[in-house]
Order: sequence, then C-alpha cells, then structure tokens
Amino acid sequence: MVDVIGGPSLPQERKLVTSIPGPKSQELLARKNAAVAAGVGVALPVSIVAAGGGVMVDADGNSLIDLGSGIAVTGVGNSAPAVVEAVTAQVQQFTHTCFTVTPYEGYVQVAEKLNELTPGDHEKRSALFNSGAEAVENAIKIARHYTKKNGVVVFDHAYHGRTNLTMGMTAKNMPYKDGFGPFAPEITRVATSYPYRDGLTGAEAAEVALTQIEKQVGAANLAAIIIEPIQGEGGFIAPAEGFLPALQEWATANGVVFILDEVQTGFARTGDLFAANHEGVVPDLVTTAKGIAGGLPLSAVTGRAEIMDSAHAGGLGGTYTGSPISCAAALATIETYEKENLAARASEIGAIITEFFTELQKTDDRIGDIRGRGAMMAVEFVESGSMKPAAALTGAIAKHAANEGVILLTCGTYGNVVRFLPPLSISDELLREGLQIVADALKANA
Ligand SMILES: *Cc1c(COP(=O)(O)O)cnc(C)c1O
Repeated sequence: MVDVIGGPSLPQERKLVTSIPGPKSQELLARKNAAVAAGVGVALPVSIVAAGGGVMVDADGNSLIDLGSGIAVTGVGNSAPAVVEAVTAQVQQFTHTCFTVTPYEGYVQVAEKLNELTPGDHEKRSALFNSGAEAVENAIKIARHYTKKNGVVVFDHAYHGRTNLTMGMTAKNMPYKDGFGPFAPEITRVATSYPYRDGLTGAEAAEVALTQIEKQVGAANLAAIIIEPIQGEGGFIAPAEGFLPALQEWATANGVVFILDEVQTGFARTGDLFAANHEGVVPDLVTTAKGIAGGLPLSAVTGRAEIMDSAHAGGLGGTYTGSPISCAAALATIETYEKENLAARASEIGAIITEFFTELQKTDDRIGDIRGRGAMMAVEFVESGSMKPAAALTGAIAKHAANEGVILLTCGTYGNVVRFLPPLSISDELLREGLQIVADALKANA
C-alpha cells in the first residue's frame, strides 16, 4: 500500500455493522426511486459518505472493500490528497471561463502532458472533453474530417459509450441500446480476437477481421478503425498477441485512422501508463477518460498533429470541456501515477489476482478463463464441464460479495464475467480479503 495516496484517513478494513444495504441506505434508495429516473439504475444501493485507500464507508457505518474504483476511475484512490489540494487551490482562483472563450494554463498543461505520455514520439495535439463517450465522438469527428471518408469499423463486444453515435458503436443491446435507436449510420462491426472462445492466434483473428473490413466496407470508404486494447464492458477481453499490431499496420497502409479507445485501460491501470505499450502499438488517435483526473470529469483525444489539426477552429469544443477544476485534478493525478510508480503497483495487483484464481481453478472448473493485465483483471465463469456462460452464478457471486461488504462489478456480453478494478491504493491485505470472499461465494454456490 502506498501511504501518500490513501485519501481520508479511513481505517483500511472491511467492517459490517448492519446487513447490506443498511437502514440509512434503504432510506436513500426509497428517495432515489421516487426522485431519480428509473433508467438510472444502481448496482449496489449503499449510500456512500466517504472513501479512500481501498474502502468505501456508507451512511450506516459499514466499511466496504472497493474492487471497482467507480469503474476504473479512482486509480490514485478516492480523495487522493494531491487531487484534493489541487482542486481546492483551483476553485479558489476561478471555476470556469469556457476555454474556447478565454483560455487558461491548466488546459494547455494537460494537453502537453498527454502529448508527452501517450504512445508514440510523433508530434501530437490534444483536445479535452468531459466524458469518455464525448472523446470517442470527437475522435470520430476528427478522423472523418481528416480522411473525408465516413465509414467507422468497431468490433464484437465493443463498448464506447451511451450517446447516440457511441451507442451505435457499442455491441451489447441490453441495457445500453434496447429501445434507444435508431442509431447513426456507417458503423460496421467485425470480429474481435477472443482467445478463450475463438481459439485463434492474433494473426488469424486479424485476418478474419480485415477480410470482413475489405469485403463489407472497403478502405476507400473507411475513415477509422476504433478498438479498446482490452475490451472493458464486453468482458475484459484481451486480444491475442499480434492482433492489434496487424490492425494498426493495415490501417496505416490503407489511409485509415487507427484509434485506440483507452478510456478504461489508460493511466497505469494495466501495468503500463497505456495498454498500447504492451505491444508497442502506436495509434493515430487515442481516447482517454476514466482514470485521468482522480474522479473529476475529464476526457481527451490525443493524436498525430496533422490529423488533430485538420478540423477548423470552432469545430471542436463545448461549454465545460477541459474544465479548469478537472485539469488541475488531472495534473495532480498524472503526477501521482508517475511519482508513485502506480503502473508497477497495478502489475503487483494483477499478479495477486492471477495467482489466487489460478490456484482456485485447479479444483473448480467453473473458472473458465482468468485474463486481463495489471489491475484490470477478470474471471469468466462457465458451467462445469463446458464453456457455457454461467451468468446466474456470476450474479450470485456479485450478490454474495455485496452482502459480505465487497463492491464487485460484473461485465461481459454474456453477463458471466467478474471484473477486478481495485484502486491502486488498496493494500494487499484488503485485496486478498476481497478475493477470498469471491472464493467463498463460489463455494456457497457449488
Ligand atoms: C466507460 C467507457 C467509455 C465511455 O465513457 P463515459 O465517460 O462513461 O462516457 C468509452 N469507452 C470505453 C472503453 C469505456 O470503458
């Protein structure tokens, strides 16, 4: 555990003083149901009042182990001291100007930092936005403007967001798309690399995808290929080695902008500052968000100067894009990743998770696949003696974990994947305690 990123000095312990959710949390849930649109669901209805290190504390006084980081956002920990300090100082100076009306230094500093740190040593530019979906939308806008082409290729199991364009780019119907169409045109979905289920090498899977692209779209019509280096919501699917480089090479050879969506994988999460670095892939554009600013809303598109500069002045922006408060938080967050070498910490977390489930898998064949990188790990559960997705078991594990005070997220097209995204500020002890509860849940559901 890295002390300086512990957040508020909360006892780093799992402690249950009521059943989950406790009475105060239930009270909030009742008010939520009466006041908040039903479409805004909640995975675990505990009313959070404080969080830091590896725990979240609820209104009833329960202390829960956080294995989700608010979906890979609080990599540096919740209320990380450096972030709190930077945000406090910024709000005392000014809170907003709209960068496209009157600029400020923080935005430019974040752009400089992203240009320096993202994969590749070519000349780069960045543009800042609010959410991951907004970054993806803008990456597509820019790629279309630069290439003067329309087509966009996305992949099976992809997740890119909840706006109209990004819903259309996302694979899974429920809950993301059902009844929300029609979706934007010119989006073509092709096969991904899913080693556990397709049994293909990276080169073979790329051959399948590239043939689909050539036959169904054609390079002459294609503006961009966009892919998550490890697919997130789709099931933490890490492609076979060689898949991403093959796509990148084809795109470069065919005048197609190659975009990596690192919204979930970015910022130390996978054991490197960016997941692209594991295979030396250099995207033309990269989208980032989640882990970028310690919990404040911020996202970015970073990429080759000639592509990024192709859009006319005024073509990119938004009222709140690159908020000075979020930029201050991002600078403190990025400095913390670097200073504390949190990429290495992510690798340690990944090794603990991998070792734990590899041992368990020896006696439980419902653990079908253990995959991911660094602190972005997942277990795919299947029915014993088969590869049939075990969604009910996965749901039961998450429920058991919640009852025992562990915040655990599921994902996957088939709903049969448990994902581990702990804050990088979690201690080994808390992490192991959380994993043991998943093992207990498996036993309880034998
Ligand atoms: C979460 C996510 C998005 C969308 O980000 P929001 O901030 O929720 O809009 C896009 N792409 C990937 C890979 C994501 O994980």
